[in-house]
Amino acid sequence: MYHSKETVTGPTAEICERIWLSIAEKRLRPGARLKEEQLAEIFEVSRARVRQALSVLESDGLVTIVPNRGAFVAEPGVDEARDVFHVRKQIEARVVERLIDRITDAQIPLLQAHLSKERQADQRGDTSAIIRLSGGFHLLLAELAGSDFLFGILRDLISRSSLITAMYRSRHLHNCGPDEHAALIEHISARDKPGATQIMLNHLQHVEDELDLTAEAPTTRDLRQALV
Ligand SMILES: [Zn+2]
Repeated sequence: MYHSKETVTGPTAEICERIWLSIAEKRLRPGARLKEEQLAEIFEVSRARVRQALSVLESDGLVTIVPNRGAFVAEPGVDEARDVFHVRKQIEARVVERLIDRITDAQIPLLQAHLSKERQADQRGDTSAIIRLSGGFHLLLAELAGSDFLFGILRDLISRSSLITAMYRSRHLHNCGPDEHAALIEHISARDKPGATQIMLNHLQHVEDELDLTAEAPTTRDLRQALV
């Protein structure tokens, strides 16, 4: 699911979710123009509603709004991509530490249940579920770590990561890999802080290594084709 910094509900949240998913699934390319009028038609809502959704996506770093020109899917540069992964490593190492300090035995099945959903989506080859669940796993760790502060930062970073992955991933599927998540759960259950932290750092490095940070931005595709 798309996790915005702002609290949005109803049609605005749905528009944000669908645009985010289209970006994450590479149907909507970085740099693509997001025409208000066309979006209003596609989603059958007012232009004011579309503007509201675009402004939420802008504050999450997924959309760039250029005065007098309109809204575009953001195009994070190679440096920003590296920065996002650099910061994710710091934040998620801290999340793992905090989580191991406070997770109860009764909460471990929550992690396992999430993992089995990931595996099922993987087997079905359900790309949108894979994208939602793999980001969701990292957010679940942050949620169980009990820090609103870390959760808020990570939510922002995960949104940006989806865009960066859509833009720079050399292979077509966005998949954190349930096997590495399984190893993480094992070390979290054993309350092994150094082991779990190391697995998290290696895992994020693997995801980053699969990005081609020398690639040029891909070409833009049609808005309607991407969203309908
Ligand atoms: Zn992952």
